[in-house]
Amino acid sequence: MIITKQKNFDDLLKMMDGQSSVFIVGCGECATTCRTGGEKEVAEMSLKLTEKGKTITGSVVINAPCLELDTRRVLRQNKDAIEKTEGILVLACGAGIQSVAEAVSCKVYPGCDSLFLGNVFRHQHFYEKCSTCGDCVVENYGGICPVTRCPKSLLNGPCGGSIQGKCEVDSEKECIWIMIYDKMKKSNTLNKLKKVFPVKRHGAGTSPGVVINGV
Ligand code: SF4
Ligand code: SF4
Repeated sequence: MIITKQKNFDDLLKMMDGQSSVFIVGCGECATTCRTGGEKEVAEMSLKLTEKGKTITGSVVINAPCLELDTRRVLRQNKDAIEKTEGILVLACGAGIQSVAEAVSCKVYPGCDSLFLGNVFRHQHFYEKCSTCGDCVVENYGGICPVTRCPKSLLNGPCGGSIQGKCEVDSEKECIWIMIYDKMKKSNTLNKLKKVFPVKRHGAGTSPGVVINGV
């Protein structure tokens, strides 16, 4: 899922300076899980903006705003309220924000910052384990990704700076190379580490990414 954080409210107000009416769009998937754009956060945002003198012309939590056709359909259903607004505030990731922006003619404001593609460990604990490099190589590392989880993206073993199992770049985090070693030891694949891997093909993940499957 996409991990987001809500923008600072004062910054949002500055962004919407001079705008008196707002329609709010939330997200029923990732932003709901992150508590940045679900039903509760949309209601709270409506209240806070109303207190600051804005007129809320309406709001909707779209199941998954990154699904563009669904988003267009839901926005069409809300067209009367949207026609009355000067702008739409979207509490979702950048993908959802752009689905909305391309479906309407009024101004669209990002209410959240997109942080990373994250795994959910437990309630409100999110971890970045894949940075979508476009050329997955985890088979060489016991299924664990050093590209993302080692801050130096080291592919041929640890840097040697780890202190008591913690990463030298961030002592709050484990050195992922210890996890890779332990996992490969358990799966009896340590011999794979004897191979020297070339520099990663970082060009494999092209932006903007387009994949059309099944055509
Ligand atoms: S190697 Fe690339 S695709 Fe595979 S988990 Fe790591 S970042 Fe993601
Ligand atoms: S201590 Fe471990 S995780 Fe941190 S940069 Fe070095 S090899 Fe990577």
